[in-house]
Amino acid sequence: MSTEVDVAIVGGGPSGSAAAHYLASRGHSVLVLEKKTFPREKTCGDGLTPRAVKVLEEMGLGEELATWERVRGLRVHAAGKTLELAFPELEQWCNYGLVKPRKDLDKIVLDNAEAAGAKVLYATQVKEAIFEDGMCRGIRARRDGQLEEVRSKWVVSAEGSATTFTRTLGRERRASYPMGLAVRQYFRSPMEHSGWFEAYLEVRSGPDSLPGYGWVFPVGDGTVNAGVGLLSTFGGWRDINLHDLQRNFISQLPEEWEVNFETVCSKARAGRLFMGQSVWPPHGPGFVLVGDAAGMINPCNGEGIAYGYETGRMAARHIDEALGNGSSPSLSSYTEEMTETYGPYYRLGRKFVKLIGHPELMERLVSMGMSSKRVMGFALTLLANLEDENARGSQQRGLKALKKLAELKP
Ligand SMILES: Cc1cc2nc3c(=O)[nH]c(=O)nc-3n(C[C@H](O)[C@H](O)[C@H](O)COP(=O)(O)OP(=O)(O)OC[C@H]3O[C@@H](n4cnc5c(N)ncnc54)[C@H](O)[C@@H]3O)c2cc1C
Repeated sequence: MSTEVDVAIVGGGPSGSAAAHYLASRGHSVLVLEKKTFPREKTCGDGLTPRAVKVLEEMGLGEELATWERVRGLRVHAAGKTLELAFPELEQWCNYGLVKPRKDLDKIVLDNAEAAGAKVLYATQVKEAIFEDGMCRGIRARRDGQLEEVRSKWVVSAEGSATTFTRTLGRERRASYPMGLAVRQYFRSPMEHSGWFEAYLEVRSGPDSLPGYGWVFPVGDGTVNAGVGLLSTFGGWRDINLHDLQRNFISQLPEEWEVNFETVCSKARAGRLFMGQSVWPPHGPGFVLVGDAAGMINPCNGEGIAYGYETGRMAARHIDEALGNGSSPSLSSYTEEMTETYGPYYRLGRKFVKLIGHPELMERLVSMGMSSKRVMGFALTLLANLEDENARGSQQRGLKALKKLAELKP
Protein backbone atom coordinates (compact mmCIF):
# COMPACT_ATOMS: atom_id res chain seq x y z
CA MET A 1 0.00 0.00 0.00
CA SER A 2 1.31 3.50 -0.78
CA THR A 3 0.15 6.71 0.91
CA GLU A 4 0.80 10.31 -0.14
CA VAL A 5 1.08 13.21 2.28
CA ASP A 6 2.73 16.62 2.47
CA VAL A 7 4.94 15.64 5.40
CA ALA A 8 5.93 12.26 6.85
CA ILE A 9 7.27 12.45 10.40
CA VAL A 10 9.31 9.58 11.82
CA GLY A 11 8.73 9.33 15.57
CA GLY A 12 5.98 10.63 17.85
CA GLY A 13 8.09 11.87 20.80
CA PRO A 14 8.32 15.57 21.77
CA SER A 15 9.99 16.75 18.55
CA GLY A 16 7.80 14.72 16.17
CA SER A 17 4.55 15.70 17.89
CA ALA A 18 5.49 19.39 17.97
CA ALA A 19 6.35 19.35 14.25
CA ALA A 20 3.08 17.49 13.58
CA HIS A 21 1.06 19.94 15.66
CA TYR A 22 2.39 23.06 13.94
CA LEU A 23 2.20 21.61 10.42
CA ALA A 24 -1.31 20.20 10.85
CA SER A 25 -2.46 23.49 12.40
CA ARG A 26 -1.35 25.21 9.18
CA GLY A 27 -3.52 22.86 7.15
CA HIS A 28 -0.90 20.46 5.74
CA SER A 29 -1.46 16.72 5.51
CA VAL A 30 0.83 15.13 8.07
CA LEU A 31 1.48 11.50 8.89
CA VAL A 32 3.38 10.54 12.06
CA LEU A 33 4.86 7.04 12.03
CA GLU A 34 5.62 5.77 15.52
CA LYS A 35 7.14 2.36 16.17
CA LYS A 36 5.54 1.92 19.61
CA THR A 37 1.92 2.05 20.77
CA PHE A 38 1.13 4.87 23.22
CA PRO A 39 1.13 5.22 26.16
CA ARG A 40 4.65 3.82 26.35
CA GLU A 41 7.49 4.00 28.85
CA LYS A 42 10.23 6.45 27.97
CA THR A 43 13.56 6.64 29.76
CA CYS A 44 13.71 10.20 31.05
CA GLY A 45 13.93 12.34 34.18
CA ASP A 46 10.48 13.77 33.31
CA GLY A 47 11.62 17.33 34.14
CA LEU A 48 10.25 20.26 32.13
CA THR A 49 11.96 23.64 32.46
CA PRO A 50 10.35 27.03 31.66
CA ARG A 51 11.50 26.63 28.03
CA ALA A 52 9.40 23.46 27.64
CA VAL A 53 6.44 24.97 29.50
CA LYS A 54 6.40 27.84 27.02
CA VAL A 55 5.95 25.65 23.92
CA LEU A 56 3.44 23.37 25.65
CA GLU A 57 1.35 26.45 26.43
CA GLU A 58 1.72 27.70 22.89
CA MET A 59 0.43 24.34 21.61
CA GLY A 60 -2.77 24.97 23.55
CA LEU A 61 -2.09 22.73 26.54
CA GLY A 62 -2.20 25.48 29.19
CA GLU A 63 -5.26 24.11 31.00
CA GLU A 64 -3.80 20.62 31.07
CA LEU A 65 -0.49 21.92 32.51
CA ALA A 66 -2.27 23.47 35.47
CA THR A 67 -2.85 19.96 36.85
CA TRP A 68 0.80 18.83 36.63
CA GLU A 69 3.38 18.83 39.42
CA ARG A 70 5.03 22.24 39.65
CA VAL A 71 8.56 23.06 40.82
CA ARG A 72 9.87 26.51 41.64
CA GLY A 73 13.51 25.88 40.79
CA LEU A 74 16.56 23.84 41.62
CA ARG A 75 17.62 22.71 45.08
CA VAL A 76 21.32 21.99 44.76
CA HIS A 77 23.26 19.74 47.10
CA ALA A 78 27.07 19.67 47.10
CA ALA A 79 30.14 20.38 49.22
CA GLY A 80 28.09 19.61 52.35
CA LYS A 81 25.64 22.45 51.57
CA THR A 82 22.17 22.89 50.12
CA LEU A 83 21.06 25.94 48.13
CA GLU A 84 17.53 26.72 46.99
CA LEU A 85 17.61 28.48 43.61
CA ALA A 86 14.28 29.71 42.32
CA PHE A 87 13.84 30.14 38.57
CA PRO A 88 14.44 33.79 37.66
CA GLU A 89 11.57 36.23 37.14
CA LEU A 90 11.69 37.02 33.42
CA GLU A 91 9.32 38.32 30.80
CA GLN A 92 10.14 35.70 28.22
CA TRP A 93 9.97 32.61 30.45
CA CYS A 94 7.72 31.55 33.32
CA ASN A 95 9.27 31.11 36.77
CA TYR A 96 8.44 27.44 37.28
CA GLY A 97 9.07 24.00 35.87
CA LEU A 98 6.88 20.90 35.72
CA VAL A 99 7.25 17.18 36.18
CA LYS A 100 5.23 14.77 34.09
CA PRO A 101 6.11 11.13 33.38
CA ARG A 102 6.90 10.75 29.70
CA LYS A 103 4.47 7.85 29.47
CA ASP A 104 1.67 10.39 29.93
CA LEU A 105 3.35 13.52 28.55
CA ASP A 106 4.14 12.09 25.12
CA LYS A 107 0.63 10.69 24.71
CA ILE A 108 -0.98 14.01 25.65
CA VAL A 109 1.18 15.98 23.21
CA LEU A 110 0.77 13.50 20.35
CA ASP A 111 -3.02 13.33 20.93
CA ASN A 112 -2.98 17.13 20.78
CA ALA A 113 -1.26 16.99 17.37
CA GLU A 114 -3.87 14.47 16.22
CA ALA A 115 -6.61 16.82 17.38
CA ALA A 116 -5.00 19.53 15.23
CA GLY A 117 -5.38 17.25 12.19
CA ALA A 118 -2.24 15.07 12.06
CA LYS A 119 -2.67 11.36 11.38
CA VAL A 120 -0.73 8.92 13.54
CA LEU A 121 0.21 5.33 12.69
CA TYR A 122 1.36 3.46 15.80
CA ALA A 123 3.30 0.17 15.81
CA THR A 124 4.91 1.25 12.56
CA GLN A 125 8.68 1.07 12.31
CA VAL A 126 10.24 3.21 9.62
CA LYS A 127 13.07 1.35 7.97
CA GLU A 128 14.54 3.68 5.40
CA ALA A 129 14.22 6.82 3.36
CA ILE A 130 13.21 6.68 -0.29
CA PHE A 131 15.59 8.70 -2.46
CA GLU A 132 14.89 9.56 -6.10
CA ASP A 133 17.22 11.76 -8.16
CA GLY A 134 19.06 12.64 -4.95
CA MET A 135 15.89 13.89 -3.20
CA CYS A 136 14.18 12.26 -0.24
CA ARG A 137 10.65 11.50 -1.48
CA GLY A 138 9.25 9.48 1.39
CA ILE A 139 9.89 6.48 3.61
CA ARG A 140 9.44 2.71 3.79
CA ALA A 141 7.97 1.34 7.01
CA ARG A 142 7.09 -2.05 8.47
CA ARG A 143 3.57 -2.37 9.81
CA ASP A 144 1.68 -5.59 10.60
CA GLY A 145 4.55 -7.51 9.02
CA GLN A 146 4.15 -5.66 5.70
CA LEU A 147 6.52 -3.16 4.12
CA GLU A 148 4.61 -0.02 3.15
CA GLU A 149 5.62 3.15 1.34
CA VAL A 150 4.69 6.67 2.28
CA ARG A 151 5.36 9.31 -0.38
CA SER A 152 5.78 12.86 0.87
CA LYS A 153 7.05 16.29 -0.14
CA TRP A 154 9.06 16.48 3.09
CA VAL A 155 10.35 13.98 5.62
CA VAL A 156 11.07 14.91 9.24
CA SER A 157 13.32 12.63 11.27
CA ALA A 158 12.22 12.82 14.90
CA GLU A 159 13.40 9.34 15.81
CA GLY A 160 15.47 10.43 18.81
CA SER A 161 18.78 8.72 19.48
CA ALA A 162 17.69 5.49 17.77
CA THR A 163 19.70 6.52 14.63
CA THR A 164 18.61 3.61 12.38
CA PHE A 165 16.44 5.74 10.13
CA THR A 166 18.52 8.92 10.32
CA ARG A 167 21.56 7.02 9.04
CA THR A 168 19.63 6.19 5.86
CA LEU A 169 19.44 9.98 5.34
CA GLY A 170 23.24 10.11 5.50
CA ARG A 171 23.39 11.81 8.90
CA GLU A 172 25.28 10.59 11.95
CA ARG A 173 26.35 12.00 15.30
CA ARG A 174 29.75 13.65 15.20
CA ALA A 175 31.76 11.25 17.36
CA SER A 176 34.08 13.99 18.65
CA TYR A 177 31.13 15.82 20.26
CA PRO A 178 30.21 15.23 23.90
CA MET A 179 27.48 12.73 24.65
CA GLY A 180 25.51 12.03 27.81
CA LEU A 181 24.56 8.77 29.45
CA ALA A 182 21.87 8.58 32.09
CA VAL A 183 19.83 6.13 34.12
CA ARG A 184 16.57 6.59 36.00
CA GLN A 185 14.12 4.77 38.28
CA TYR A 186 10.88 5.56 40.12
CA PHE A 187 10.57 5.30 43.91
CA ARG A 188 7.61 5.73 46.27
CA SER A 189 8.63 8.67 48.42
CA PRO A 190 7.25 11.42 50.68
CA MET A 191 9.25 13.79 48.40
CA GLU A 192 6.51 13.38 45.74
CA HIS A 193 5.52 17.06 46.27
CA SER A 194 8.90 18.55 47.29
CA GLY A 195 8.38 21.51 44.94
CA TRP A 196 12.00 21.44 43.69
CA PHE A 197 14.17 19.74 41.13
CA GLU A 198 16.71 18.22 43.56
CA ALA A 199 20.21 18.08 42.04
CA TYR A 200 23.32 16.47 43.50
CA LEU A 201 26.44 17.84 41.88
CA GLU A 202 28.88 15.31 43.30
CA VAL A 203 28.89 12.14 41.25
CA ARG A 204 31.88 10.04 42.12
CA SER A 205 33.65 6.98 40.88
CA GLY A 206 36.23 6.19 43.57
CA PRO A 207 37.87 9.46 44.61
CA ASP A 208 37.21 11.23 41.30
CA SER A 209 34.43 13.75 40.82
CA LEU A 210 32.77 13.03 37.48
CA PRO A 211 31.08 15.54 35.16
CA GLY A 212 27.41 14.92 35.77
CA TYR A 213 24.73 15.08 38.42
CA GLY A 214 22.19 13.01 40.26
CA TRP A 215 18.55 14.10 40.43
CA VAL A 216 15.35 13.49 42.36
CA PHE A 217 12.28 14.99 40.69
CA PRO A 218 8.85 15.00 42.41
CA VAL A 219 6.22 13.36 40.23
CA GLY A 220 3.26 14.19 42.50
CA ASP A 221 1.60 10.77 42.24
CA GLY A 222 3.28 9.25 45.30
CA THR A 223 6.57 8.73 43.47
CA VAL A 224 9.79 10.49 42.53
CA ASN A 225 11.99 10.01 39.48
CA ALA A 226 15.62 9.59 40.59
CA GLY A 227 18.65 9.04 38.42
CA VAL A 228 22.18 9.94 37.46
CA GLY A 229 23.55 11.51 34.29
CA LEU A 230 27.12 11.59 33.11
CA LEU A 231 29.06 13.28 30.31
CA SER A 232 31.53 11.57 28.00
CA THR A 233 34.11 14.34 28.47
CA PHE A 234 36.51 12.47 30.77
CA GLY A 235 38.89 9.61 30.03
CA GLY A 236 37.54 6.22 31.05
CA TRP A 237 33.82 7.08 30.78
CA ARG A 238 33.28 3.90 28.79
CA ASP A 239 34.35 1.83 31.83
CA ILE A 240 31.82 3.41 34.17
CA ASN A 241 28.93 1.17 35.13
CA LEU A 242 25.85 3.44 35.23
CA HIS A 243 23.89 1.03 37.37
CA ASP A 244 26.65 1.00 40.03
CA LEU A 245 26.67 4.79 39.89
CA GLN A 246 22.91 4.83 40.40
CA ARG A 247 23.16 2.47 43.39
CA ASN A 248 25.85 4.71 44.96
CA PHE A 249 23.77 7.81 44.36
CA ILE A 250 20.59 6.34 45.82
CA SER A 251 22.43 5.08 48.90
CA GLN A 252 23.64 8.61 49.81
CA LEU A 253 20.18 10.28 49.75
CA PRO A 254 18.69 11.44 53.09
CA GLU A 255 16.96 8.56 54.86
CA GLU A 256 13.74 10.54 55.42
CA TRP A 257 13.21 10.80 51.64
CA GLU A 258 12.69 7.03 51.64
CA VAL A 259 14.31 6.70 48.24
CA ASN A 260 15.88 3.29 48.61
CA PHE A 261 15.75 -0.25 47.35
CA GLU A 262 12.64 -1.04 49.37
CA THR A 263 10.60 1.76 47.83
CA VAL A 264 11.81 1.27 44.26
CA CYS A 265 8.90 0.66 41.90
CA SER A 266 10.49 0.37 38.45
CA LYS A 267 13.49 -1.10 36.74
CA ALA A 268 16.55 1.10 36.22
CA ARG A 269 16.52 2.17 32.58
CA ALA A 270 19.39 3.91 30.83
CA GLY A 271 19.75 5.90 27.63
CA ARG A 272 22.08 8.04 25.54
CA LEU A 273 21.82 11.81 25.25
CA PHE A 274 22.82 13.32 21.89
CA MET A 275 23.85 16.87 22.68
CA GLY A 276 25.42 20.12 21.56
CA GLN A 277 24.14 20.10 17.93
CA SER A 278 26.08 16.92 17.29
CA VAL A 279 24.22 15.80 14.13
CA TRP A 280 25.00 18.25 11.36
CA PRO A 281 23.69 19.69 9.10
CA PRO A 282 20.10 19.09 10.24
CA HIS A 283 18.68 19.38 6.74
CA GLY A 284 19.22 17.73 3.37
CA PRO A 285 17.39 17.36 0.07
CA GLY A 286 13.77 16.79 1.06
CA PHE A 287 14.34 16.19 4.77
CA VAL A 288 15.07 17.79 8.14
CA LEU A 289 16.14 16.46 11.54
CA VAL A 290 14.61 17.66 14.82
CA GLY A 291 15.18 17.05 18.55
CA ASP A 292 17.58 14.28 19.56
CA ALA A 293 17.84 13.10 15.94
CA ALA A 294 19.64 16.43 15.38
CA GLY A 295 21.68 16.05 18.60
CA MET A 296 19.84 18.96 20.18
CA ILE A 297 20.05 18.17 23.91
CA ASN A 298 21.46 21.04 25.98
CA PRO A 299 24.95 19.86 27.01
CA CYS A 300 24.86 22.00 30.16
CA ASN A 301 21.92 20.29 31.85
CA GLY A 302 20.85 17.28 29.75
CA GLU A 303 17.51 18.85 28.90
CA GLY A 304 16.14 17.74 25.54
CA ILE A 305 12.34 17.93 25.66
CA ALA A 306 12.21 21.72 25.25
CA TYR A 307 14.67 21.63 22.35
CA GLY A 308 12.62 18.85 20.75
CA TYR A 309 9.51 21.04 20.93
CA GLU A 310 11.36 24.15 19.75
CA THR A 311 13.11 22.51 16.79
CA GLY A 312 9.87 20.71 15.83
CA ARG A 313 8.15 24.11 15.77
CA MET A 314 11.01 25.72 13.84
CA ALA A 315 11.15 22.92 11.23
CA ALA A 316 7.37 23.16 10.79
CA ARG A 317 7.63 26.88 10.03
CA HIS A 318 10.30 26.36 7.37
CA ILE A 319 8.45 23.43 5.78
CA ASP A 320 5.24 25.48 5.78
CA GLU A 321 7.05 28.26 3.91
CA ALA A 322 8.59 25.81 1.43
CA LEU A 323 5.20 24.19 0.78
CA GLY A 324 3.68 27.64 0.29
CA ASN A 325 6.43 28.57 -2.20
CA GLY A 326 5.87 25.42 -4.25
CA SER A 327 8.44 23.30 -2.41
CA SER A 328 12.10 24.28 -2.48
CA PRO A 329 14.49 21.31 -2.71
CA SER A 330 16.45 22.04 0.44
CA LEU A 331 15.73 23.66 3.77
CA SER A 332 19.08 25.35 4.31
CA SER A 333 17.11 28.21 5.90
CA TYR A 334 16.24 25.83 8.76
CA THR A 335 19.91 25.07 9.38
CA GLU A 336 20.71 28.79 9.23
CA GLU A 337 18.11 29.55 11.87
CA MET A 338 19.35 26.65 14.01
CA THR A 339 22.88 28.08 13.81
CA GLU A 340 21.73 31.56 14.69
CA THR A 341 19.41 30.53 17.52
CA TYR A 342 21.45 27.84 19.23
CA GLY A 343 25.00 28.07 17.80
CA PRO A 344 26.61 30.44 20.35
CA TYR A 345 24.97 28.84 23.38
CA TYR A 346 25.78 25.28 22.30
CA ARG A 347 29.37 26.26 21.52
CA LEU A 348 29.60 27.63 25.05
CA GLY A 349 27.99 24.45 26.37
CA ARG A 350 30.47 22.19 24.57
CA LYS A 351 33.37 24.17 26.03
CA PHE A 352 31.85 24.08 29.51
CA VAL A 353 31.38 20.30 29.51
CA LYS A 354 34.92 19.77 28.24
CA LEU A 355 36.19 21.87 31.11
CA ILE A 356 34.28 20.01 33.79
CA GLY A 357 35.63 16.73 32.38
CA HIS A 358 38.72 17.45 34.53
CA PRO A 359 37.90 16.09 38.02
CA GLU A 360 39.98 18.68 39.95
CA LEU A 361 38.38 21.54 38.05
CA MET A 362 34.90 20.12 38.47
CA GLU A 363 35.50 19.84 42.21
CA ARG A 364 36.84 23.40 42.50
CA LEU A 365 34.00 24.89 40.48
CA VAL A 366 31.42 23.09 42.61
CA SER A 367 32.97 24.11 45.90
CA MET A 368 33.43 27.75 44.73
CA GLY A 369 29.90 27.91 43.38
CA MET A 370 28.32 26.44 46.48
CA SER A 371 29.79 29.20 48.63
CA SER A 372 27.72 31.85 46.81
CA LYS A 373 23.99 31.74 46.18
CA ARG A 374 24.41 34.55 43.65
CA VAL A 375 26.90 32.58 41.60
CA MET A 376 24.68 29.50 41.68
CA GLY A 377 21.63 31.58 40.76
CA PHE A 378 23.53 32.73 37.69
CA ALA A 379 24.56 29.12 37.00
CA LEU A 380 20.89 28.09 36.99
CA THR A 381 19.99 30.81 34.45
CA LEU A 382 23.00 29.86 32.33
CA LEU A 383 22.59 26.09 32.46
CA ALA A 384 18.85 26.23 31.77
CA ASN A 385 19.52 28.66 28.89
CA LEU A 386 17.05 31.22 30.19
CA GLU A 387 18.24 34.17 28.18
CA ASP A 388 15.69 36.95 27.92
CA GLU A 389 16.23 39.33 25.02
CA ASN A 390 14.66 42.26 26.85
CA ALA A 391 16.03 41.74 30.36
CA ARG A 392 19.03 43.80 31.44
CA GLY A 393 20.01 42.42 34.89
CA SER A 394 23.58 41.33 35.70
CA GLN A 395 22.75 37.63 35.15
CA GLN A 396 21.45 38.34 31.67
CA ARG A 397 24.44 40.53 30.83
CA GLY A 398 26.76 37.77 32.08
CA LEU A 399 25.03 35.14 29.98
CA LYS A 400 25.24 37.27 26.83
CA ALA A 401 28.93 38.06 27.50
CA LEU A 402 29.81 34.38 27.98
CA LYS A 403 28.12 33.47 24.70
CA LYS A 404 30.18 36.15 22.94
CA LEU A 405 33.34 34.84 24.59
CA ALA A 406 32.64 31.32 23.37
CA GLU A 407 32.60 32.73 19.82
CA LEU A 408 36.27 33.70 20.07
CA LYS A 409 38.77 31.34 18.49
CA PRO A 410 41.20 29.85 21.04
C1 LIG B 1 17.80 8.96 31.54
C2 LIG B 1 17.41 10.21 30.79
C3 LIG B 1 16.88 11.28 31.48
C4 LIG B 1 16.47 12.44 30.80
N1 LIG B 1 15.87 13.43 31.51
C5 LIG B 1 15.40 14.52 30.87
C6 LIG B 1 14.66 15.50 31.58
O1 LIG B 1 14.39 15.38 32.78
N2 LIG B 1 14.22 16.59 30.90
C7 LIG B 1 14.47 16.75 29.56
O2 LIG B 1 14.07 17.79 29.00
N3 LIG B 1 15.15 15.81 28.86
C8 LIG B 1 15.60 14.69 29.47
N4 LIG B 1 16.23 13.70 28.75
C9 LIG B 1 16.37 13.88 27.29
C10 LIG B 1 15.02 13.63 26.59
O3 LIG B 1 14.52 12.38 26.97
C11 LIG B 1 15.16 13.70 25.06
O4 LIG B 1 15.89 14.83 24.72
C12 LIG B 1 13.79 13.74 24.38
O5 LIG B 1 13.12 12.54 24.56
C13 LIG B 1 13.96 14.02 22.88
O6 LIG B 1 12.73 13.97 22.21
P1 LIG B 1 12.66 13.45 20.69
O7 LIG B 1 11.25 13.58 20.27
O8 LIG B 1 13.69 14.13 19.88
O9 LIG B 1 13.07 11.92 20.75
P2 LIG B 1 12.35 10.72 21.55
O10 LIG B 1 11.69 11.21 22.77
O11 LIG B 1 13.40 9.66 21.70
O12 LIG B 1 11.24 10.22 20.56
C14 LIG B 1 11.54 9.45 19.44
C15 LIG B 1 10.30 8.63 19.08
O13 LIG B 1 10.54 8.00 17.82
C16 LIG B 1 10.16 6.64 17.88
N5 LIG B 1 11.00 5.97 16.89
C17 LIG B 1 12.35 5.76 16.95
N6 LIG B 1 12.78 5.15 15.84
C18 LIG B 1 11.70 4.97 15.04
C19 LIG B 1 11.51 4.40 13.76
N7 LIG B 1 12.52 3.89 13.05
N8 LIG B 1 10.25 4.37 13.24
C20 LIG B 1 9.20 4.90 13.94
N9 LIG B 1 9.33 5.45 15.18
C21 LIG B 1 10.56 5.49 15.71
C22 LIG B 1 10.40 6.24 19.32
O14 LIG B 1 9.58 5.15 19.69
C23 LIG B 1 10.03 7.52 20.08
O15 LIG B 1 8.67 7.55 20.44
C24 LIG B 1 16.66 12.54 29.40
C25 LIG B 1 17.22 11.47 28.70
C26 LIG B 1 17.60 10.32 29.37
C27 LIG B 1 18.18 9.16 28.60
